[in-house]
Amino acid sequence: MAKVGGEVDAFCTRCQLLLAHTVIAMIGAVPVKVECNTCRTVHRFRGASTTPARTSRPRQPAVSFEEMLATRTSPARRYAITDFFAKDDVVDHPTFGRGFVSEVKVPGKVEVTFRGGVKTLVHGRH
Ligand SMILES: [Zn+2]
Repeated sequence: MAKVGGEVDAFCTRCQLLLAHTVIAMIGAVPVKVECNTCRTVHRFRGASTTPARTSRPRQPAVSFEEMLATRTSPARRYAITDFFAKDDVVDHPTFGRGFVSEVKVPGKVEVTFRGGVKTLVHGRH
């Protein structure tokens, strides 16, 4: 459990490495400011799972559709134009099958990733 003055593993923006840091400030249970024990740079906390922002990641991760779907834990909901869907919601579509909401781009439209590809669906229509 992290605490101010304690140590956490964080990604150092100067060293570009995951290193031990001393917690300087916290919001609730989450460290927000840390000091690198190696270079003594004080910077915002980046968790161990966070990759540096400058690393450009491919838009399509190299994981299968099943793996991506498996990480979405919300129960599958039948797609209906009158329903509202949020990011990571699991959707059962009568034509495309099961998918998950990968992006909410504009109000009233969601991008749903199905096995066969990404579809833009209308939602929240009354
Ligand atoms: Zn450092």
